[in-house]
Amino acid sequence: PPAIRKISEKHDKVFVTGCLEPDTSQPRANAAFVVLARNKELEGVLQSIKSVERHFNRWYHYPYVFLNDGDFDDKFKETVRNHTSAKVEFGKVAPNTWGFPDWIDPKVAKEGIAKQGDAAVMYGGLESYHAMCRFYSGFFYNHELLLKYDWYWRVEPEITYFCDITYDPFLKMIEHNKTYGFTIAVKELRETVPNIFRYASAYKRLNNITSKGLWEMFIEPQDPVKDKEKKKDPNLPVEVLQNDPNKNTAPEIDPEAMEGEKYNMCHFWSNFEIARLDWFRSKEYNDFFEMMDRSGGFWMERWGDAPIHSLAAGALLAPRDIHYFRDFGYRHTTIQHCPANAPARQLPRTPFLEKTTVDEKKRVEEDQYWENWDEVKENGVGCRCR
Ligand code: GDP
Ligand code: MN
Repeated sequence: PPAIRKISEKHDKVFVTGCLEPDTSQPRANAAFVVLARNKELEGVLQSIKSVERHFNRWYHYPYVFLNDGDFDDKFKETVRNHTSAKVEFGKVAPNTWGFPDWIDPKVAKEGIAKQGDAAVMYGGLESYHAMCRFYSGFFYNHELLLKYDWYWRVEPEITYFCDITYDPFLKMIEHNKTYGFTIAVKELRETVPNIFRYASAYKRLNNITSKGLWEMFIEPQDPVKDKEKKKDPNLPVEVLQNDPNKNTAPEIDPEAMEGEKYNMCHFWSNFEIARLDWFRSKEYNDFFEMMDRSGGFWMERWGDAPIHSLAAGALLAPRDIHYFRDFGYRHTTIQHCPANAPARQLPRTPFLEKTTVDEKKRVEEDQYWENWDEVKENGVGCRCR
């Protein structure tokens, strides 16, 4: 983790300190908010839109694209339209980008999912959640409604922004030649991704990819003595799910060949993301996704799109390509990020923290661990946080 501190000090500065008069005279970027949701999440969606509009989009009017594996009903569409002046489009997810691919045996996959449910892996027993993670890992960026856009800002139900965003983050990303932006980095629950790193690391090795300096952020510091023992650990990879052996493109994973590296479980929390869609559409990213997908890990384990995006970034991007939006006050359910002048910073024990369980508290602390404290302490980077 101190790695990210170094990265953010050396390669990435906050775009804007404090508040600006929003400059809306410049043309907008070719960008949209992307919201995957279900009809029953309308209330949470409204909370999110209200917050996005209040703190940013009332000045910038970026369009929204809503996606759903089912059909949005009229009430959902109408209510959403009534809460923004921006253009809103509603789309359906293509069936071949949701659910089991045809090369998988659904019976085996369903059994694998049930097992994860029994083992109380978070969301592990929910087939739809697996489908969602796979969609956000390998397909959303090619949805027909998104093809016209170069940039996206992901929004989920039940998020809150609590500082004003008085500049255009897309234009800043372009100006500073950034590819991927995050505001929270946390540790993944190990049991959701037991074998993810074997495959990510095999991708990197099989394609002769050398790190541009970001990969190191995702590996535990090495201990040469202990690592020798670890190499012998026969913790086997997930079974490859195939009913057509000719289509088996998943690599053989040699447990000896991970060069002693171990995933530290760190990932950018992907419910907030501002990123260049072209990167997701690149051959390299899609080769990565394809290889990860063919392992069956989206079903036999519960790989989230967050560690997938992060490990792909680790393999393919450099620290200078990443932007840490440390000035965005942001909360999603139990985890939040506060710039220095946000209320929760002044009062470390907010009711929000009191309400969380011990484990959640630990995760909140981990988020805070990633911050560039010195910079944040000196110049409250957020704007009108409340
Ligand atoms: P969490 O943030 O990891 O707890 O997971 P969420 O339940 O918030 O799901 C992540 C995102 O995917 C949210 O935008 C959800 O609205 C969306 N989502 C999850 N499952 C489904 C689903 O089955 N169908 C649709 N249309 N959206 C889903
Ligand atoms: Mn969510």
